[in-house]
Amino acid sequence: MTFNAEKAKKLLIDRRDELDALRTISEDSQATVDLDQQSVGRLSRMDALQQQAMAQAQNRARQKERVMIEAALTRIRDGEYGACVSCGEDIDEKRLELNPSAAFCIRCAG
Ligand SMILES: [Zn+2]
Repeated sequence: MTFNAEKAKKLLIDRRDELDALRTISEDSQATVDLDQQSVGRLSRMDALQQQAMAQAQNRARQKERVMIEAALTRIRDGEYGACVSCGEDIDEKRLELNPSAAFCIRCAG
């Protein structure tokens, strides 16, 4: 028996919404950094650039996670959810509960 796909779908959609909301917020703060660059001093400009780099790294990580979520939602729609995309074995329920977008079983992921 595999992790309930309906439950997973809800978790995945909630997480996707959360990622979208976070992205909107960080895009706003990046815009602020750009505007402030001319008026702030050298040190705080370096801080701002560092913050911007961190925000960009976070955005990339979120973008990656979002792709995983979309793929998992597609597998739910196709009735393939819960099966490892590599070997086809059922993915452990506990693993899916921890990460509903997991695409590989523990053996293939390791
Ligand atoms: Zn596998």
